[in-house]
Amino acid sequence: MLANKRHADYCALLRAAEESIMSRMKEKDTEAEKAKRRNVELEARAAHLSAEAQVWEARARAQELEAAALQSQLEQAIVSRSVGSSLAEREGVGLRSAVDDVEDAESAYVDPERVVLVSGPGCKACGKRVASVVLLPCRHLCVCTECDGVVSSCPSCLSFRSSSIEVYMS
Ligand SMILES: [Zn+2]
Ligand SMILES: [Zn+2]
Repeated sequence: MLANKRHADYCALLRAAEESIMSRMKEKDTEAEKAKRRNVELEARAAHLSAEAQVWEARARAQELEAAALQSQLEQAIVSRSVGSSLAEREGVGLRSAVDDVEDAESAYVDPERVVLVSGPGCKACGKRVASVVLLPCRHLCVCTECDGVVSSCPSCLSFRSSSIEVYMS
């Protein structure tokens, strides 16, 4: 009886120990699984961070290049300021030629009333309109219709104007 009970106790003890070992192993397994998952997560995060770091590095390099460009521009500005007097002279010449251009344009500008001169002989009296009246008796085509009523002698030959004829150019 006693030996039987002892054996049963022993078996129960063994079973309990086995169970506890099993559960512990299970725990370890899940822990290992967790650690594995965490490792993967951390690796992914590290990869992401390194990609981000590369982006930042590229950005920093671009900014460095930009800064270098600005620096060289600044140096050029300083250098050009030191030869500023000659540069200013050149700029002055540019300005002067621009003024000349404006003046040329002004001298080339023609009074719209004077443009009429191009389409025929000008009136010798007013110099603005086209001469379209022949004075008699000298027969000079030298005044416009408006000056015809004003002049008493021919502006070309200064001879007496007795009458006049308006002519039509075709
Ligand atoms: Zn006239
Ligand atoms: Zn005349």
